[in-house]
Amino acid sequence: MDKPLKLNSYCVKEGVRNESTKPHQLPLYLSSSFVMEDSQEAVDIFTGKKKGHVYGRYGNPTIDAVAHKIAQMEGYDLKGDAYGFLTSSGMSAITTLIMATLQSGDAVLTQGNLYGGSTELLNKLLSRMGISTIFTNLQDLNGVERILKDNSNIRMVYFETPANPTMACIDIEAINIIASKYGVPTAIDNTFCTPYLQRPLSMGTDYVIHSTTKYLNGHGNSIAGAIIAADYDASRKIWETLKLNGSTCNPFDAWLLSNGLKTLAIRMDKHSSNAQAIAEYLSQHDKVAHVNYNGLPDHPDHEIAKKQMSQMGGMLSFTVVGGQAEALATIDRLQCCTHAPTLGDVDTLVLHPTTSSHLNVDKAVREANGITDGMIRVSVGIEDVEDLIADFEQALNQL
Ligand SMILES: *Cc1c(COP(=O)(O)O)cnc(C)c1O
Repeated sequence: MDKPLKLNSYCVKEGVRNESTKPHQLPLYLSSSFVMEDSQEAVDIFTGKKKGHVYGRYGNPTIDAVAHKIAQMEGYDLKGDAYGFLTSSGMSAITTLIMATLQSGDAVLTQGNLYGGSTELLNKLLSRMGISTIFTNLQDLNGVERILKDNSNIRMVYFETPANPTMACIDIEAINIIASKYGVPTAIDNTFCTPYLQRPLSMGTDYVIHSTTKYLNGHGNSIAGAIIAADYDASRKIWETLKLNGSTCNPFDAWLLSNGLKTLAIRMDKHSSNAQAIAEYLSQHDKVAHVNYNGLPDHPDHEIAKKQMSQMGGMLSFTVVGGQAEALATIDRLQCCTHAPTLGDVDTLVLHPTTSSHLNVDKAVREANGITDGMIRVSVGIEDVEDLIADFEQALNQL
């Protein structure tokens, strides 16, 4: 501009940026809109002829870089591309996926031991929008086939494997084969495994969702979710829904996730080896009645887990001898482990499911699923495992 501005105008205007050097690390873009170079560019971007950013709710360079990276990881074994989107939370990833793919009159087939928030979403909100849910044991493959045959309104099979907190596994490939026979798409919540341990898209799953809040970020400092689809047309529907329901991830949480992702592989290696050592230690302790960890040969789903997971991950649960009082006393005596209602962080976290995550699940249903009052869930961290074992040892030995 040749004519000098008045002082207040200089305050309001953006400063002159030197963008001739490229930042080594992904910059955090905090801009709700993007400048159109000229009117033709505006038309081209709005009509989809040209790729570009226009408005932050539709995405921005920070968010899109991270979404793309997660899609590359989940789609690692595919011949073609996978398409990824970041959402404001794991819950909004599920909501957006269902809003994008189902409509009133449709039904979802899922398991009884789903993440509590997902169960409530289906039962309390989506039911009001005319989307019904059939809960069944997805390990019973004949039963699944029968239900699909009898209910032609089922338009999605939605599941988690391993499931919280018993680590029950569902055979991904087998479910996908049955569902595709009836033309029903499948979706998996891959939060517990991450694409480093399990890649459902390569086994024929249509959609993967994540609470990136957990292992993908790994540091317990951001809330976000992801949706990944292998099919381009399906991905457009997701993008359109995301744009309209407004559940885009915020750039700062995406940026934190970007940092966390860089160490995913070494974190998951250590989570898995630490969890295996702790599961083996707990199994032989006389104050421990039972341990649920897929890496133990006596876990009922050890073989399914080995088939579809490259390592057994960092989640386990165990039941102390006694009941709720003994479980809570053990949690209170732990010093190296922290009592907190999340998972997948670098430090070890414990939780008492029947008084927290599974409080609203009927006692009879809980017990039928092996979730007892003496159970403690552990999200095993990446500390030195000797310190963790010593912590469990001192806590259990006081029982
Ligand atoms: C935490 C979690 C969710 C929900 O994710 P948020 O980021 O808390 O919304 C969904 N599924 C699983 C398996 C989870 O652990």
